[in-house]
Amino acid sequence: MPEGHSVHRIARQFARNIVGRTVSASSPQGRFVEGASVIDGREAIDVRAVGKQMFLAFDGDVWLRVHLGMYGAWDFSGEIAVDATIASANGRMGHTNQRGTVIDDNPILDAAGENSLSSIGAPRRTRVRMSEQTTGLEEQVEWPPPVVGAVRLRLLTEATCADLRGPTACVLQSPDEVAATIAKLGPDPLVDDVTEGEERFVATVRKKPTAIGLLLMDQSVVSGIGNVYRAEILFRARQNPHTPGRDVPEDVVREMWRDWVRLLSIGVETGQMMTMDDLDPEAYRRAMAHRDDRHWVYHRAGLPCRVCGTTVLMEEAAGRKLYWCPRCQA
Ligand SMILES: [Zn+2]
Repeated sequence: MPEGHSVHRIARQFARNIVGRTVSASSPQGRFVEGASVIDGREAIDVRAVGKQMFLAFDGDVWLRVHLGMYGAWDFSGEIAVDATIASANGRMGHTNQRGTVIDDNPILDAAGENSLSSIGAPRRTRVRMSEQTTGLEEQVEWPPPVVGAVRLRLLTEATCADLRGPTACVLQSPDEVAATIAKLGPDPLVDDVTEGEERFVATVRKKPTAIGLLLMDQSVVSGIGNVYRAEILFRARQNPHTPGRDVPEDVVREMWRDWVRLLSIGVETGQMMTMDDLDPEAYRRAMAHRDDRHWVYHRAGLPCRVCGTTVLMEEAAGRKLYWCPRCQA
């Protein structure tokens, strides 16, 4: 499932490529025909990411709310200018005018496509996206690009195409509805003041009898944390996932928030959920290229803990797999 960093990256690509332009909107799959017809011909004027949701504003007080859920993704094609804050991790300022290509000087691309710049969301291994980036020279012969698969919503400017597939939510909202949706969400370090966010997070966690491993995934408690970041933040805090929120020491709760602030900014910059520290250049390169090398406990069930050697456990928590070390997180 795309976690908060992906949604912020998507919003930044929208800011660079879609906002300020008039869009043609359609629903090739047919499930958002009415909504698309409302958007069609309007100018996109603003975009916001909060946690796992993106809000795209059009003139006339029309907002599009998208939640990618487990399987959703945005695919960009045509001219894709890359936001400088995203591209800076790779040492480039992010600009391309090649059709269908995103050119990077020296990105470390994940083998599974996790930090692809042209497809953000649930990884889709069936379609070859990486080749567009690695050759950097492929011309898009057809414009607009042919529709592939079940595209819920296609947003098209003169130069850029954004296709949405498989979202959990894709709805139009009024400004009041957007405000109400956002009001229900917990603090997001890239939206809210980080100090105020910390106080909100601490106050909420410290009064709940719910296990901290569940609270971290609760989007009304904190925005943007998904299954990978949950496991990693808990491990980094050496915190038992089963401890009720109200029993977790306040300084540990604060440290978890501050860790999320750090990890989220790394995630937005690199496109990857890099959760390990102090890697030497070789290990860093390996970790950026392969997910299995960049987490402490996530997806390591049955393997020895990287710190103490104890076998990492996996259990179901709120329907999602939770990984933890019973010794480090006793
Ligand atoms: Zn351990």
